This record gives sequence, C-alpha cells and structure tokens, in this order.
Amino acid sequence: MADRLLYRHGVASDDRFSEPIIHLDMDAFFVEVERLRDPSLRSAPVVVGGTGPRGVVASASYEARAFSVRSAMPVARAKRMCSGLIIVPPDHAEYRKQSELVFEILRRFTPEVEGISIDEAFLDVSGLRRHFDDAASVAGTIRCAIRNELNLPSSAGIAANKLLAKLASQDAKPDGMRLVPTDAIDEFLHPLPVRRLWGVGEATYAQLERLGVKTIGDLAGIPVGTLERRIGATLGRHLHQLAHGIDARPVAGGGEAKSVSVEETYDTDIAGRELIGAELLRQAERVAERLRRAGLAGRTVTLKVRFSDFSTITRSRTLPWPTNVGRDIYRMAGDLLERSDIGERPVRLIGIGLSMLEEGSAPHQLATDRPGEWDDLAGAVSEVRDRFGAEALKPARLTRPDHDEG
Ligand SMILES: [Mg+2]
Repeated sequence: MADRLLYRHGVASDDRFSEPIIHLDMDAFFVEVERLRDPSLRSAPVVVGGTGPRGVVASASYEARAFSVRSAMPVARAKRMCSGLIIVPPDHAEYRKQSELVFEILRRFTPEVEGISIDEAFLDVSGLRRHFDDAASVAGTIRCAIRNELNLPSSAGIAANKLLAKLASQDAKPDGMRLVPTDAIDEFLHPLPVRRLWGVGEATYAQLERLGVKTIGDLAGIPVGTLERRIGATLGRHLHQLAHGIDARPVAGGGEAKSVSVEETYDTDIAGRELIGAELLRQAERVAERLRRAGLAGRTVTLKVRFSDFSTITRSRTLPWPTNVGRDIYRMAGDLLERSDIGERPVRLIGIGLSMLEEGSAPHQLATDRPGEWDDLAGAVSEVRDRFGAEALKPARLTRPDHDEG
C-alpha cells in the first residue's frame, strides 16, 4: 500500500524516536464489547464469565474491580464480593470480530504489529518518525481511532522497549497512556514491585524474596554474579538486564498480508455522488480482482476517503461471510460512504481494503438472491482480463466519460 498513514501530525525534525515501542492494550475488552450491544451495562459492575456453578470471571469492568473482583476468580465468589454484579455469558466469536477490527486499525499505522493476545499488541513505530513528532503522538492517534471507529477504550504504554512499554500500559489503565522517557527509566522502573516483571515464575519470586528483593530496584542492586549463583546463570543474567530496563527483544511483526487494498489519489479532486460512486465501483472491482488472483476472500470492507484538506475518514464493516465479488464490495463500500454523509466535499483519494481474509472464493453473495451468478460472472471477468488486459471489461457505469482515470 503506497500510503499506510491515515492520520498525519506535524513532520518531526528528529531523525529517530527515542521511545519507538508501543504496548496497546484494550481495557476490560470483553465487557466493553458487550456494552456496545447493551448500553444498559454501562457504568455498572459487570463481568463476562461462565454462568454455570463453576463459572470463572473472564473480564471484569472497572466498576466491578472497585469491589476487588478480578479475572480468573470464580463467578460465585465475585457475586459475594459485589452484590449488584451483572454476569454476561461470553460470546467469543464477537470478541474475535472486534479484535480483528482493532488489529486492522493497528496495521494501518505499521506492519510491525505483534499480537500478544486477543486484545493487546506491541507495535514498533520507528518507521513513522517522519510523519509524527514522537511515538506518544502515534499512540494517541491510534487510541483515538479505536475510540472513534469502534467506541472502545484502550490504554497505551510508550517506551524504548517491550518490557517498559508493557509495564507502562498497565500503569496507564484504564483509558490512558503513559510514556517512559528513556532518560528516566530507573525512576519509573525501580519503585515497582518485582512481581511486575513478567515471564518470571512463582518459584523464582520466592527465591528473590529470600534474597530480600521486593522492588525491581532491589533486584537491580544485586550483583549479577550473585543472581547467577542463586537462580541460575541464564535466568540470573536475564533478570539483571530486565531490572536495568534492558530488553532487546524485537517486535515480531510483519509477515503475511493481513489485508488486500487498493487506493487512488486523483490529480484533480472529485466531488458529487455520481463521480465518487463510479470511482468506488472501479476500486471495488480492482480490489476484488486482486483478491481472486490471490485466491482470497475477505469479510471486513474498509473504505478510506481523503478530502482536499488532507483530512481522512475510514469506515469499516464486517460481513457474516467472506467475499471477493466486486459488486458485493461496492455495495458495502457504498453503504459506508452513504453513512459518512460527505456531501459535496472535494475528494482527493479513495481506497477500499478487505481484511479478515480467508482462502478460497466467496461462498455467498450479497448482490443477488441467486447464489453463484455473480461468482461465475466474476470468474469470467478475470479470465477476459487475463487474456485482453485490465481495460477490456468493466462494469457499464465505468464507461461514463465524465471521470478521470488519473
Ligand atoms: Mg486488555
């Protein structure tokens, strides 16, 4: 994709970010997704969890946490701790769907996104230094996008490495963000309890406590040789480094394509329903063609429109089934455009992306109640284009002379 950035701040003068790692973590994710569907759950103590006699809390709202209700606690116990507690059974398919939408937003900013779980990820945003003043601006923009587009709260930690970013996001919760400046790492890290260092087992904590270690600062004060003798060479060295805020693990992002998209910047701004509609149809056909060539179909359609003043909107919608049929994609994108109510604003760029990709062709169609028809037509169009080139066959509307191919 030529232009991954949907949100631009000022152009930074510095040639690198000193804190390029973001840990983005959704707040009480399952509960907040349930609140999207049932607003009566807002501001109430709620848990998502098993409703059977042995049910366990999977996610607790911050109102429930005020009563010391926590994840992994038996629901029966949580009820005793908080009498008005509302219990909602989990709907993991819905959480996965919302999770995909969150990750789709993250990947707009950088391909360097490493998912840690359904609702948290590390991002390395070094590549954005020419577009944002600092990584905190990137994190703020991402959180706004998640809030505006999905109506979900998230928190972010921004730091020089994964360890510090993760600790910082925990401190930022809920609905906040925290930067650990690289010249003030010890001030942030050393007062924290040593149990906050993650990936360290109970037995090791017990050994550290025997050494009189309570805080990460205490741990940092122990000579590395002593640690190596007491808890083993590898773990001792590892913990010594963590206690000094050293963590060289890279963000394991990138990899295979998670979305297929097309976009076009027009030499001359376009405006008005007719013209923009025709462009949408053309982009929908292009992206459908790409999907079919790759043997993929996608469920989430994302429309991107950039206006002449460079402000940009993106709107997404997820289908119940995957598609790679241009008409279906056009219809979805058209609905998204309709709801965005852009009126006569001059448009500089239009893009359509498909994510939540699956292998194979579209098993269902939206555009017709006679399944198979559009699928066959789409296949035929691909064949003709293979033989005669992309311009050989187009939907009739695209032959209108009043828009520029630019
Ligand atoms: Mg979370």
